[in-house]
Amino acid sequence: MYTRCLVCDQPFEPNEQLAHLPYGTRLAFDPARGRLWIVCRACRRWSLTPIEDRWEALEELEKLARDRARLLSQTDNIALLKAGPLEIVRVGRAQLAEEAWWRYGRELTSRRQQWNKLGVAGSVAAGAVVLGGWATGGMTFIGIWLVAGHGKETVRDGARWLRFGSSAWRGEARCAACGHAFRTVPYAERSALGLFPTDQPGKMEVVARCPRCGAYHDGGLRLKGQDADRTLRRVLAYHHFAGASERRVVSAAKLIQEAGSPQDLTRILVKGGRRLGDIQRTGGIALEIAVNEASEQHLLELELGELEAHWKREEELAEIVDGELTPLPMLESLRRRVTGGG
Ligand SMILES: [Zn+2]
Ligand SMILES: [Zn+2]
Repeated sequence: MYTRCLVCDQPFEPNEQLAHLPYGTRLAFDPARGRLWIVCRACRRWSLTPIEDRWEALEELEKLARDRARLLSQTDNIALLKAGPLEIVRVGRAQLAEEAWWRYGRELTSRRQQWNKLGVAGSVAAGAVVLGGWATGGMTFIGIWLVAGHGKETVRDGARWLRFGSSAWRGEARCAACGHAFRTVPYAERSALGLFPTDQPGKMEVVARCPRCGAYHDGGLRLKGQDADRTLRRVLAYHHFAGASERRVVSAAKLIQEAGSPQDLTRILVKGGRRLGDIQRTGGIALEIAVNEASEQHLLELELGELEAHWKREEELAEIVDGELTPLPMLESLRRRVTGGG
């Protein structure tokens, strides 16, 4: 296996994630065509790995991408994934269920494991989880208080409080109807928050009823844009602090798939306006996936465009190199081995 860039001769950084490809921290692969490149961080060019060293590494990489990587973003042709320190460019598009699973499945199911741990321990061990996981500096005394003879629900509530605090939103705003000043939206009132569609697809207005005059449609607290986005993401993460089972995440991803897109799902769930507390559990998980999806989507587009251009150029070269050096039937059988199918 190469240890240096074929173009600029810079050494590749070693990695500890892949036994069969111990060099490179940015990798690109195409499981369908059986290509594997190490991407140089200095000159950004791709070095095609020697074909005889490629196959175990490809299998290993596909498994890593499937089981442990997080999808950052993708185009129709390539997906950018992250697994620990490794950045992985995978050629080929994932299905949406698979896509959402990659992105959020591990996050939501690991929340669930953490939640179970907090419940089972319910004592000193749970206190250690609280302290070790979330407490910083002056907060530790609260952890100690929590552990001192309080039940598992208290420990869980405490852990959640340490993680999120008590307010989903803080700021200054006034009720349009009566002028009441809003300073905070406590999580405790989340179920009563209203979600209303806006002109922008997938974007919502988050509304809290005015406690003084009762206005809701023409007053109250009305959060828009970034403020609404951020508040909704916090509220949903808080609401789903207990995480979700794999099955629930898969059902939620299927809901999004059936809706057509995260934006469509949001539109269907919220319709003309809906209280958060009225959204069913799977729908709520799907909404959390959808709002996070929408907020991250555009961030990596530039980088992806560049990567895709790289891939197209490197793939042309790879086709020539592999085609000249390797009999096609061998490539085909190796491809089957890696992709596990026809
Ligand atoms: Zn280089
Ligand atoms: Zn009011």
